[in-house]
Amino acid sequence: MTLLDLKLTESNTIPLDSLACHVGNTPLLPLRRVTLRLPPRVKVFVKAEWFNPGGSVKDRPALNIIQNAILNGDLGRGKRLLDSTSGNMGISYATFCAALGIPVTLAVPASASSERIAMLNALGAELILTDPLEGSDGAILKARELAAEFPDKFWYANQYDNESNWQAHYLSTGPEIARQTNGQITHFVAGLGTSGTFVGTGRYLNERLPQVKTIAFQPDAPFHGLEGLKHMPSAIKPGIYDESLVGTPLEVRTEAAHEMTIRLAREEGLFVGISSGAAVVAALKIASELDEGAVVTVLPDAGYKYLSDKKLWEGSLRTQTFPDV
Ligand code: PMP
Repeated sequence: MTLLDLKLTESNTIPLDSLACHVGNTPLLPLRRVTLRLPPRVKVFVKAEWFNPGGSVKDRPALNIIQNAILNGDLGRGKRLLDSTSGNMGISYATFCAALGIPVTLAVPASASSERIAMLNALGAELILTDPLEGSDGAILKARELAAEFPDKFWYANQYDNESNWQAHYLSTGPEIARQTNGQITHFVAGLGTSGTFVGTGRYLNERLPQVKTIAFQPDAPFHGLEGLKHMPSAIKPGIYDESLVGTPLEVRTEAAHEMTIRLAREEGLFVGISSGAAVVAALKIASELDEGAVVTVLPDAGYKYLSDKKLWEGSLRTQTFPDV
C-alpha cells in the first residue's frame, strides 16, 4: 500500500495511475564497504529516498500535505500553494502541483544550489529569493509575511508546523523500515530539517518496536554546509519539533559529511547529497559503539543537485591527463 492509497477511498482527486502513486516504498540498502571496520554483527542500512519520483524524501510530506489540503477544501479553489523551502520540498510541491494544475509560490534562500533553483523554474514554480545570510529562517519569515498580507491569494502549506508533514513518515517511512528489516532494526538515525522525518518515523518505531533507539543529528554550528538541515539551538524551532522525542541530537561537522558523501559515491556507488553523507557519519558513530545491531538511516536525496558545489567535489577530482608520447 502506498501513502496515496491510504486516502484514495476518500478522494478521487489524485488519479491512481499518476506519478504520485510511486511515492514511498523506496529500497533499503545495506552499506558494505564504509562499514568494514565495524564488528561483524553490526549492520548499517540506508533508505534510498532519491527513488521517489520528485527525487527526495520530501515527496512524502509534500504529497500528504497537498492531499489533505485538497480533502479539506483549502487547495484547488484557485489559491496558490505558498511555502518556504531550501529546495527539496519545493521541488516535490512543484512536481505534484504541476500535474494537478495548482500554482505554486516558494520563498527560497538565494543561497540554495543553482540546480535547485533551475529545477524549480523548470517545474513552473514562482520563486521569491530571500537573503542568503538569513538562511532558511529568512525564507520562513518571508512566507509568513506573504501569507498574512494576501490570505485570499495564498494557501500557506507551512511545512514546519503542518502535522501532515510528520504524519507522512508515520504512515509510510516508519512502516516500510519495520517491514524491510523484519522488525530487526535496533537503531534509527535521522537528521533534523523540519524534523518531520525523525519525528514521524521515530514515533511509529517507538510505538510498534519499543526496543528501537531513535537518534537525531544536527549540524554542529549555526553556519554550516548541510543543506536541508537545521542547527536547532540557533534556528526558528519547527512547530512539529518534539523535544521529548529528539533528546540531545548528535552533532555532525560539514567537513566530515563532505568526506563521507565522496566515500559513499566512490566506495558504495551511492551518489547522494551532503545531508546523506552526514546521516552516514552519524549512523557509523552509533554503529561503532555496538557489539551487534541493525542501524537504519535515511539518505534524503541524490548528488545531482550539489554538482555546482565546487568545494565539495573539486578537491577530490579523479581525472588524469595522459602524457603526450
Ligand atoms: N536532507 C535534505 C537534503 C533535505 O532537503 C531535508 C528537508 N529539509 C532534510 C534532510 C531533513 O528532512 P526533514 O525536513 O524531514 O527533517
